[in-house]
Amino acid sequence: MAVPKKKVSKSRRDMRRAHDSLKPSAYVECSNCGESKRPHHICEACGHYDGREVVEVETY
Ligand SMILES: [Zn+2]
Repeated sequence: MAVPKKKVSKSRRDMRRAHDSLKPSAYVECSNCGESKRPHHICEACGHYDGREVVEVETY
């Protein structure tokens, strides 16, 4: 089994983890209803995409 030769210091360990944080997911405003939606996804509130194109209709 491969074993590390030296103990990794707290500094080195934490430097390695410096890039591990998650970024908040991107959100844009829907051009149809103003609801926040993810870019390049259909709006979950009104089912619109790319201006006026109705991709899906949600009814409750
Ligand atoms: Zn919408």
